[in-house]
Order: sequence, then structure tokens, then C-alpha cells
Amino acid sequence: MEHLNVELGEFVVKDQEIEQDWSVFTTPRLVKEKDVGRGNVSFGVVRQLKSYGRTAKVKTFLKGLVCDLGLDDKIELITRINCPGEGVIGTLLEQFPERSGNRIELSDETDYFGLRRAKLNWQLSERDIKTVKVVAMEAAKAFADSGLGFVKLRDYILRDDVFMPVSPHAHHMGGTRMAADKADGVVDENCKVFGVSNLFIAGSSVFATGGGGNPTMPLIQLTLRLADHLRRIVKA
Ligand SMILES: Cc1cc2nc3c(=O)[nH]c(=O)nc-3n(C[C@H](O)[C@H](O)[C@H](O)COP(=O)(O)OP(=O)(O)OC[C@H]3O[C@@H](n4cnc5c(N)ncnc54)[C@H](O)[C@@H]3O)c2cc1C
Repeated sequence: MEHLNVELGEFVVKDQEIEQDWSVFTTPRLVKEKDVGRGNVSFGVVRQLKSYGRTAKVKTFLKGLVCDLGLDDKIELITRINCPGEGVIGTLLEQFPERSGNRIELSDETDYFGLRRAKLNWQLSERDIKTVKVVAMEAAKAFADSGLGFVKLRDYILRDDVFMPVSPHAHHMGGTRMAADKADGVVDENCKVFGVSNLFIAGSSVFATGGGGNPTMPLIQLTLRLADHLRRIVKA
């Protein structure tokens, strides 16, 4: 599993003095009712024009001109421009653990040491795409209801025939899932590998599902729990 990072669209705030970024989170009720993954959606306000590289000064000048003239809608075709007071809507969304589409297997190819290489299968399921679209629509509604401004969602949120670009968050999880039974996972409830008496795994690899939050704090909590468990069994 990975956390899905999809740009949902852009927004314009009515009051340009607003400086704060927002995040909205899925509620357990929404997740259950719509059968979608968990996640959070961030509204990041553009405060100043950003430009990088050797031609930064020229680009910043041109962008300033475009924003001042209110031409950003038209120039977007050539290069995306966000003016102060506008913002980008980003996501960190749960991907469903799908056994058929997402798994790590041993390939027939071997490495320098003669060991079989890992083969990673990673795909988006229909439920993952549905999660992106449902969460996008709900977040847009929440933003509009707040009266803060206007939202423009990307075409791939509103239409099924437009390709949806999905980026990662570098949060790979679930390679050695925790489960009650070895048929469903790699480690038991104490992070011990099924079938091996003294091999334990600490890390986001044991997550049974990825959730919609950053992984590192929960994996540290699980690791501390494992340390307590190991101390108990070593003493016994
Ligand atoms: C750019 C970036 C930004 C991130 N930002 C955030 C963030 O803001 N918040 C957040 O919560 N998370 C963030 N993460 C994710 C976070 O770094 C990971 O979730 C976390 O490091 C996972 O910890 P882990 O111990 O499970 O795995 P890892 O940190 O990947 O540790 C696995 C270890 O196993 C070792 N290893 C692998 N194979 C072998 C082998 N065969 N033999 C021996 N050793 C081996 C590796 O060298 C590595 O040291 C970010 C990740 C990246 C890349």
C-alpha cells in the first residue's frame, strides 16, 4: 500500500489576507457510508509567487504581470500559475490492501549472490479511484459551505474518461502484514513472523492497512510495544 497523493484541484479565497492552510479529514461515518478509504485533504494557500532556476527573475516578473492582469486562467495552458490568494488542494489517502493487485513476490531473476530478486506488483483498484473522487467532492463541498471561497476540481475528478495522475508519498506499508492467521498475513499480533520462533518485524511493513495519516508515529508506537513484549518473554 501507498498513500495516494493526487492534486484534486485549485481554490481561490475571497479574503486575500487569509494566511492559514487547512486540512480536512474523512470521518468514520463518511468512510463507512460511502465505502471509501480514509484520508486527509490539504488546502495550501499561495502566499508569494514561487519560481526557481536560472531564469527565476524573468519568470517571477511574467507571473506577477499575469496575476495582476487577471490572465492566469488563459496562461495556465502554457504553464500552471498560482497567484497569491489561490491555492492547491492535495491529498494523503488510504489505499485498500488488494491481495491480487498489490503484493511482493520472488521473481525467477537472481541477484549477484544468486538470491531471487523481489518483484513488486502495485496497482490502483476501482475502490482507490472511488476514494479519490468521493473525498474530493466532499472536501470541495465542505470548502464551499465554509464560505471561504471557490473550488475548481480537476477534470479527472469529475469525468471517468480523463486519466488521473497519482503520485506517491514514499509511505510504502503492509509488505509483511499483521494478521490473526498465517493465511492472511506474515506476522502475528506480536509482530512475530509466522512459522519462525525468533524473528520479529518492526516498521510500517506490518500495517494491516495504511490508514490516512503519516505512518512514522504509529510504527514507533508499535515498535515500543514490541520492545515491551520482547522484554517480557526474555524475562519469563
Ligand atoms: C522523502 C520522505 C519523506 C517522508 N516524510 C514522512 C513524514 O513527514 N511523516 C511520516 O510519518 N513519514 C514520512 N516518510 C515515511 C517514513 O520515512 C517511513 O514510513 C519510515 O521510515 C518507515 O520505517 P521502517 O522502519 O518501516 O522502514 P525503513 O525506514 O525503510 O527501514 C528499513 C530498514 O531496513 C533496511 N533493510 C532493507 N532490506 C534489508 C536487508 N535485506 N537486510 C538488512 N537490512 C535491510 C534498510 O536499509 C532500512 O534501514 C517519508 C519518507 C520519505 C522517503
